[in-house]
Amino acid sequence: MSVLHLPGLFDAHVHLRDPGATHKEDIASGTRSALAGGIVALLDMPNNRPPITSPQRLQAKANGFAQRAVCDYGLFCTYTGGPIAPIVDMAPQACGLKLYLDETFGDILLTDLELLDTLFAAWPGPGPIAIHAAPPMIGWALQAARRHGQSVHICHVPTPDALITVDRARQAGICATCEITPHHLFLDDSAERLKGPLAQMKPPLLSPPEVARFWRHLDLVDIIASDHAPHTLQEKAGATPPPGVPGLETTLPLLLLAVDQDRLDIERLTELTWHTPLAVYGFDPPPGCGVDVAIDKPYRFPERGYTTRCDWTPFGGLEGLGRVQRVRIRHATVWENDRLLATPGSGRPLGRRKANTSIGSGGCP
Ligand SMILES: [Zn+2]
Repeated sequence: MSVLHLPGLFDAHVHLRDPGATHKEDIASGTRSALAGGIVALLDMPNNRPPITSPQRLQAKANGFAQRAVCDYGLFCTYTGGPIAPIVDMAPQACGLKLYLDETFGDILLTDLELLDTLFAAWPGPGPIAIHAAPPMIGWALQAARRHGQSVHICHVPTPDALITVDRARQAGICATCEITPHHLFLDDSAERLKGPLAQMKPPLLSPPEVARFWRHLDLVDIIASDHAPHTLQEKAGATPPPGVPGLETTLPLLLLAVDQDRLDIERLTELTWHTPLAVYGFDPPPGCGVDVAIDKPYRFPERGYTTRCDWTPFGGLEGLGRVQRVRIRHATVWENDRLLATPGSGRPLGRRKANTSIGSGGCP
């Protein structure tokens, strides 16, 4: 057995369901699950109930994190209609503006292009506009970013063609970045036949040849983020199972197995899960971070026994490599051998980099 030392993992896309659906996950259980997965900082999505559309809601959510988070964090805001002023007011505190241009979990879809264009014009930054969209709207968002000089980040890029579209846009000078999820890299649509609703998410899993294309074009990807989207097993077994899968605790072992199989190298892993996501969102790394991972033989992910409140995984039965032994934040050991050592509220909001540091990895000022 050997021990691998990593600077930390930053998961730039998670849904901790708090407020609104804390039977699935909450700030305490979700940030604990992050530490179990070696993740020292995360960005939480705004599709809560109610969605984070006002400075008051953002502040209330920030208060919850300040009291209960055990890892560092940034919080997105969103827009679902009505006056645009609140997003401008939220911008300094938010890690970014998340816009849903394609159907997702919750009722926050935006389809009015004129209104969307106004949002792109109004968003003052410093965080990027993060987009959940299918291909036609990805192209629209890239052009809107060009028109208004915005940084746009395409969340969970849905297809290899969309990935190539993003790359062409940045070659044309548009400040565009994108992320991919582990489930789109390590599962294909056969998982849906085997696992049913437990392998259903948005965007959906792809065919094996499309997954192979994702791997071939991994050099075009900026960020790997889990899109941790927990639902209970009972909800997944219901008549209308909600889309989304948990992922905070499986990203690192999946990627380390890929390193072991020479599909990825450790420097690139660190870029995709640490340096680049921090740069894209313009954050300094939390000081004194480190993750020690015990590397032994590959093992099969169990179906149960996770720290996340929903306690299941779509990767059950697949192989992973490495077990998180110890996690440090601000030089303090916060997680060790499956035990939480951090106190509630020890997590901090991520700190902004100084102005004029470039954000984004391609074509950005
Ligand atoms: Zn998501």
